[in-house]
Amino acid sequence: MAETLQPVRGTRDLIGDDQRRHAHVIETSRRISALYGLEEWATPIFEETRVFARTLGDTSDVVTKEMYTFEDRGGDSVTLRPENTAGVCRALISNGLTQSLPQKVFYAGPMFRYERPQKGRYRQFHQIGAEIIGSPEPLADAEVIALGWHILQALGVSEQVALELNTLGDTASRDAHRASLVDYFSAHRDALSEDSRDRLARNPLRILDSKDEGDRRLVAGAPTISASLTSEAAGFYDGLRTHLARFGVPFRENPRIVRGLDYYNHTAFEFVTDQLGAQGTVMGGGRYDGLVAQMGGPQVPAVGWAAGVERLAMLIGAPPDRTAPVAVVPMGGEAEEAAAVEVMQALRRVGVRAEMAYRGNMKRRMERANRIGARAAVIIGGDELARGVAQIKHLDSGTQVEAPLETVAERLQ
Ligand code: ATP
Ligand code: MG
Repeated sequence: MAETLQPVRGTRDLIGDDQRRHAHVIETSRRISALYGLEEWATPIFEETRVFARTLGDTSDVVTKEMYTFEDRGGDSVTLRPENTAGVCRALISNGLTQSLPQKVFYAGPMFRYERPQKGRYRQFHQIGAEIIGSPEPLADAEVIALGWHILQALGVSEQVALELNTLGDTASRDAHRASLVDYFSAHRDALSEDSRDRLARNPLRILDSKDEGDRRLVAGAPTISASLTSEAAGFYDGLRTHLARFGVPFRENPRIVRGLDYYNHTAFEFVTDQLGAQGTVMGGGRYDGLVAQMGGPQVPAVGWAAGVERLAMLIGAPPDRTAPVAVVPMGGEAEEAAAVEVMQALRRVGVRAEMAYRGNMKRRMERANRIGARAAVIIGGDELARGVAQIKHLDSGTQVEAPLETVAERLQ
């Protein structure tokens, strides 16, 4: 092979600091989700194509341009998951869990979208997500958003993000809004991008999500949903804002938040930052009451969000340092090495990170202890072994004490 092998365009290796940041985001969100009663689900990273094709919406960017879809060797069409809400709903139905509601679900894992790679935008990326399935009350929307906010606080990034909130209303509100959008954009048809002229015919709401500069100027003047809300939808939105205040989650209303996928109703929200350039949305979600029924299950209301792990990993400060290890240093032969292994395992059993080089003289081993940032070295030579003791050298202060072998672990705990 002439050229050095590289990862596929838009994919990344997670090693060293990158992996530590990534793991910190996932471990923190997993821990906070458990406090809210969520259980973690892991669904397959590929599904039958129809799990996504119809549910995400025939006109969404994800379905029309971004899916990794292929025929497997048996001739079935499968798709690498571009998101996980459809997969969770599929799993809810497949496992008969529509009979045991509510289900509160947390997930973390890789997603795949064929996009133009850039900072914060990859072809394999990772999401954490939360879904509360089976609850029609706006209190569920508020709680799942409060969970998102809690995670952002625990990650130390809440100062850098803002919650933008909107309502998409119910079906009647959306129909009325759609009609007013068609009127407005039809009057400006010539100024729309080609994509948006197509959206005007197929799904005018989608134009509100367009990233085209010219479209965005038009969108700024477009009628918002508020004038079209039914009293029921307006009441739901009032309830959500009241509950969010009780949870202590600050928000600002933004009537332009529409979300990229078709299955949302009522609540739509994004946590955004101005620190990541064009890739400013770190977490997004909303209510999707129609999705489970659309997939062939019963009518099940649900609300949730997903967040980009890479974008969060870029926002956090340095992840917490691993605690400094203890280096175990045998000096001599077999017997010293055997005693060293015993001490090392005793240290690990009491929860102390401990390492020992597989070979090398005293000087080499002490150099290695420094290289791995050890806080102490436990030195076991022939003389020590004969007396059943070890030398504990504290590497930051340089002080050295002698201790019976069986007390070493306890002293360094
Ligand atoms: P964007 O507007 O940035 O394309 P989106 O609306 O497509 O985002 P969602 O489908 O709502 O994103 O996914 C939730 C989150 O997943 C996003 O807010 C973002 O943090 C992250 N995300 C989405 N696509 C990518 C990607 N290609 N690479 C990295 N993170 C991504
Ligand atoms: Mg996108």
